[in-house]
Amino acid sequence: MQTGAKNGWENSESLYQPWANRALSYATEITNASPGRGSATAGETQAAGYVHKALSQIGIENLRIQEFRGLRSIWFFLALTFGLAILGHAAFWLLRFPTGMIPALLVSLAAFALSGFMLFRKFTFRDYPLRDTLPHGSSQNVVAVLPAQKEVNQRVVLISHLDSHRAVIWYANDWLVSIYRFLAILAIYGVFLAPLVYILVAITGFVAATWIGVIIAIVHFSAWFTGMTADLGLYSPGANDNAAAVGTVMALAERIQSEPLQHTEVWCAFTGCEETGCDGMITFLDAHSQELSKALFIDFELIGIGERLVYLRSEGVVRKKRISAEVEKQLLEAGAEFNLQPLEGIGAGVFTEMGVVWERGLQGACLVTLREGSPFLPEWHRLTDTPDRLESEALGRAHTMVWNLLQKLDESAH
Ligand SMILES: [Zn+2]
Repeated sequence: MQTGAKNGWENSESLYQPWANRALSYATEITNASPGRGSATAGETQAAGYVHKALSQIGIENLRIQEFRGLRSIWFFLALTFGLAILGHAAFWLLRFPTGMIPALLVSLAAFALSGFMLFRKFTFRDYPLRDTLPHGSSQNVVAVLPAQKEVNQRVVLISHLDSHRAVIWYANDWLVSIYRFLAILAIYGVFLAPLVYILVAITGFVAATWIGVIIAIVHFSAWFTGMTADLGLYSPGANDNAAAVGTVMALAERIQSEPLQHTEVWCAFTGCEETGCDGMITFLDAHSQELSKALFIDFELIGIGERLVYLRSEGVVRKKRISAEVEKQLLEAGAEFNLQPLEGIGAGVFTEMGVVWERGLQGACLVTLREGSPFLPEWHRLTDTPDRLESEALGRAHTMVWNLLQKLDESAH
């Protein structure tokens, strides 16, 4: 028998274990009850219904479903933007012969400008051109508000998304994810770089530079092709991304319900359509950012596998946003015994709902759990992202850390 001493929070196993088990059983039920919880699909609605029912059964009264129209696939959007980029390349290469350099360059620049503008707007979570041409469907957030026992002096918002992503081939193993991350940078920045290269060629006649344009064009073709074919496959079961987070927030809600906070009102937002660009979070903030302008937002992503609890120090696909110094300090204090570490970014081409929060000038942090020694998100967007792989210790760690943080915040709000 192993009798090695445990340190810090692990000593309180008997305290956190019941809550970790609650989170695990919620996560398992969500994954099994609604296979293929794609954004704005019936599976996602089913998951929302499950969460709503379970929360009302534990006696949460201030509970509602917030409906909206959400994008059904981020890959439609990417096919459109990178299709425009290909148009930009083609105009420069092909139109030159019938029209001459200047008209060809102008058409090329117009296509890149529209593509780049769409990328910028989409990934700063704002309205974008041609949005209505893309397929949208009914989606929903489940919003629960847990009242404080006394006067409300602060608000905390716990966020987890309900939907799961397509198990696109690029996510199938760590090697492919590495290539994907590299190509994602090239594809996105290529939309802004390629027109500069073509202007340079047009002005200087420096033909060697056209090779850079060719390489970017090939990457844009790959991105467009992935976008066109991504939705032919299956959805990931989404146990770690993100049923584990939904289960964690549900277990926290249940605990707050039985051990209420004094001066802290806690909101729980279970959102739809995160995977396709956070339409659920955008809808939630459109409705509530006034009353939540001073709130602390805590987003949970892939929280159920691994030994290393981290928070994102920065993120942003087209524009980096950083965690505020004040929130980082609070987190590091509450997270010290859990060995909470910063993660510089979540990877190129990756966003979370904290991006929406930060883009709006609000305060918050995104928590993620990683395996020791691995920079990869465990089971991210894979068919193997099944509930049997979730680890109750990882869920216990995230639960206890955030529970302690809530206690500390509540004490300081007296
Ligand atoms: Zn996720």
